[in-house]
Amino acid sequence: MSYKYHMPTKILFGQACVLNNSILLKAFGKKAMLVTGKHSAKHNGSQEDVISALSTEGIDYIIYDQVMSNPTSECCYEGAKMAIEHQVDFIIAIGGGSPMDAAKGMALLAKQEINQKQLFNGEYIADALPIIAIPTTAGTGSEVTQYAILTNDLIESKTGIATEAIFPKIAFVDARYMNQLPPTTTINTAIDALSHAIEGILSIRASVVSVTLAYKSIEHFSECMVPLLHVKQSNSIETMTLKERESLANCSTLAGMVIAQTGTTIVHAMGYSLTYFKSIDHGRANGLLLAEYLELVEKDEPQTVEAILRVMGLKSVHGFRRFMGKLLGIRETIIDEEMHQFSEKAIHTGNMNNCRIKPKKEAVVAMYKAAFNE
Ligand code: NAP
Ligand code: ZN
Repeated sequence: MSYKYHMPTKILFGQACVLNNSILLKAFGKKAMLVTGKHSAKHNGSQEDVISALSTEGIDYIIYDQVMSNPTSECCYEGAKMAIEHQVDFIIAIGGGSPMDAAKGMALLAKQEINQKQLFNGEYIADALPIIAIPTTAGTGSEVTQYAILTNDLIESKTGIATEAIFPKIAFVDARYMNQLPPTTTINTAIDALSHAIEGILSIRASVVSVTLAYKSIEHFSECMVPLLHVKQSNSIETMTLKERESLANCSTLAGMVIAQTGTTIVHAMGYSLTYFKSIDHGRANGLLLAEYLELVEKDEPQTVEAILRVMGLKSVHGFRRFMGKLLGIRETIIDEEMHQFSEKAIHTGNMNNCRIKPKKEAVVAMYKAAFNE
């Protein structure tokens, strides 16, 4: 047996972790750039805490608050330009995966002059401004990964930038920031985290450490399966407790630590086209496909699939599909031609190389068909 485990991010988890550990920010310099989405950071308490922590430590700051969902490279270039002009020493990313990933792109681009093609082809030097990450969704785990997933119009999909230079230096995970996450985002992001854990287990790069983290992540998810169904049924987050939010945050951060080692698989590869061409949210896209991939894997690795289902308290892939069906509701329409086009793209992604069970194109088409013709 041989494996490598590398996750250099310092994690501070718990209520008020930003304010209680503001001193840690001092090591990164005298001026920060906060990177956020357009609205949520201003309302969920996260930005306020960061500004208060910076003022305690006498650190100056500017704010870039224009990150959109599924961020573009243009947004990263714009933020990097601002960081250079204002000579910031480090970046504090606050938000879901979109602001965290955009901030990583900015941190990299602030250190070098490269064009879009070079950025997406990995032709950059491994140098970036230090990044502090504060997740306000419980899904992507981007606070503990070396990935920035950006919309790539050159290939009409999403491309992952991967370099250890963009591992956040610190992740502050305070589930209180997630308290007001709307029902659909709560569900979609939780599914994304589950997908990371499951795909990590099914990755060719899985190790004893990543698998242990992945099962723990799924355990946290399973504590929230009933609460998530309540959120779906009532279309309200009123019943969700802070303890459940913390479970989802743990699920997400642990699953991020998993994919930092294993990468994601065909499920994410298939999901990227659903997001790019059909505007289906990232987590939902994975959720629509997970049961189909589990069914395929089950033929070769029944014990692995059974172990995953057991942690979720489920007896069969059919039960998994039923549970996901309740969370996801009515499915979008995808026509045959699109399924073939998306399948062709999926089998040529790097994610495919991570699959222990590698489906052929026909099997990928069949998975799309099963997912959307249910
Ligand atoms: P997101 O795109 O970051 O945010 C979705 C929505 O949720 C936005 O409208 C955002 O509003 C809102 N929001 C965020 N936090 C909120 C809060 N606490 N309360 C209320 N609303 C809140 O969604 P995400 O699912 O977290 O991230 C998805 C992105 O991450 C995708 O691009 C995906 O490819 C990427 N991803 C990255 C990794 C990685 O390892 N780097 C892994 C998986 C996925 P505002 O815009 O106003 O903030
Ligand atoms: Zn994901």
